[in-house]
Formats: sequence, C-alpha cells, structure tokens
Amino acid sequence: MKVMLDDGLRTKALAARGFMPENEGDALFAAAVSVPATVAGPIVEVGSYCGRSTVWLGGAGRLTQRVVYAVDHHMGSEENQPGWEWHEPDLVDPHTGRMDTLPHFRRTMIDAGLTDVVVTVVGDSPTIARTWMNTIAFLFIDGGHGVEPATLDYELWTPHVAQGGLLAIHDVFPDPKDGGRPPYENIYLPALASGKFEEVSATGSLRVLRRL
Ligand code: SAH
Ligand code: MG
Repeated sequence: MKVMLDDGLRTKALAARGFMPENEGDALFAAAVSVPATVAGPIVEVGSYCGRSTVWLGGAGRLTQRVVYAVDHHMGSEENQPGWEWHEPDLVDPHTGRMDTLPHFRRTMIDAGLTDVVVTVVGDSPTIARTWMNTIAFLFIDGGHGVEPATLDYELWTPHVAQGGLLAIHDVFPDPKDGGRPPYENIYLPALASGKFEEVSATGSLRVLRRL
C-alpha cells in the first residue's frame, strides 16, 4: 500500500493555495518518506509560494524526523507577476506594489501545525544555495521556471543531494504543448545526462530521481 499523508494534514494541504495537484502532492510525500533513514540530511524545498506543497513535505519531515527548509523570496516568479499567466492579484502587497506570499505561507504553516518542522528561509534561491553547507536527503525544485532560474537551481542545489538521496522536480513537461521548457530542459535532462541521477518515478509533471 502506498504511504499517505495523514488525513488531517492532507485536508490542510488541499485547502492551501498553490500549484500542487493532489495526486502529485501525494507522490511528493511518498517519495520524501521513501529516502532511507541512513541517508543524512534535511528536506529542502525551493519554491514554496503559499505553502501548499510544503504541507506534504512537512508531514514527511515529521514522519521521518527531518527538518524541512522551505526556500522562497516570496516575491513570486516571473510567471506570477502582473500580466503573466499565473498572477493572483490579491497577493500583491499594496505598500510595496510587489507580490508577497510570505503572510499566506505563514498562515498555511500555522494552520497545519508545522512550525516546529518547517524552517522558513526567506531569500534568493541562488544566494542561499551558494552558502549551503550540508548534504540534502530530499531536494524538491519548484522555483522560478525561466531558463536562468531553473539553470541556477540545477547547478547550485543539486550537487548537495546526498548519495541515495532524491531529487524531485516539478512542472517537467517533455511535450512543449503541456507547458514551459526549463524544468525539463535545464533541470531534468541535465540531471540524467550527468550520469549522477537515475529516474525513480513520474507522476503528472513530477519527476523523482535518485542520486547514484
Ligand atoms: N511549490 C509551490 C509553488 C511554487 S511557485 C506550490 O506547491 O504551490 C514558485 C515559487 O518560486 C514562487 O513562490 C517564487 O517566489 C519562488 N521563486 C522564484 N524565483 C526565486 C528565487 N530566485 N529565489 C527564491 N524563490 C524564488
Ligand atoms: Mg510547480
């Protein structure tokens, strides 16, 4: 039987705003809890938005006694800005005129009771990755989906994945008619081509690779 997030937390995840479909969230959770306990390190999420995927990962962290670092500058990706496809106008802070998902993310974590498991890391992903010192047991990349952010997330975060650890990538669309290219072309394909990762599973646009 597939291991599932407990009902209470799953309800919180499904109530949260964001871009993680139910079946992919369940697959993300199953993958995160599948990392052997002998693989050291935390769970790291790059791109949290309002915390929807983070609830599944927080549940996995609680179950496996791993901390979850949720990395986001909370100012939205290019595709979340006004005039773009994935913009939600009520997430703009009237004071700065910029997107601010941090209050929403905080509410989601507090409502889900995950503040002891999830560490909120507010900042620019490449800046944080460049100073990251530990191995990572489970890395989930769902940050900026342009060529440059995706390339930087691949180059700067994936070397930290521990041997036997997992790399999960969201919004991987091999067929261009299904969505944007960079998670596929600039993260998924290079990871496989590096010879350092092998594919473990695919659920919707979620791909899970193991570090060899
Ligand atoms: N995982 C979320 C969706 C993430 S959307 C869910 O399940 O709903 C992508 C997120 O990446 C946005 O919140 C955006 O602010 C963040 N992001 C984009 N570029 C970033 C960067 N350079 N540094 C930090 N966060 C970034
Ligand atoms: Mg996504």
